[in-house]
Amino acid sequence: MRVRVDENICQGHTLCAMAAPEIFGLRDEDGHSYVLVTGELTADQQAAANSALIGCPERAISFTD
Ligand code: SF4
Repeated sequence: MRVRVDENICQGHTLCAMAAPEIFGLRDEDGHSYVLVTGELTADQQAAANSALIGCPERAISFTD
């Protein structure tokens, strides 16, 4: 399973990067989130990413196969 951030929806709240800093980074230019993990998530990473997904007020985070 992988995780993605929809750049068109993200508003740069930073909550995901605070919840899972090993998975989400914030772009210098606009503060919007991007995924640091390029491959499949480990179980621990999935759990952390899910916490960020739940906490994202814009629902910009999703999982993909
Ligand atoms: S919490 Fe959601 S809206 Fe905020 S920076 Fe992260 S992905 Fe973007």
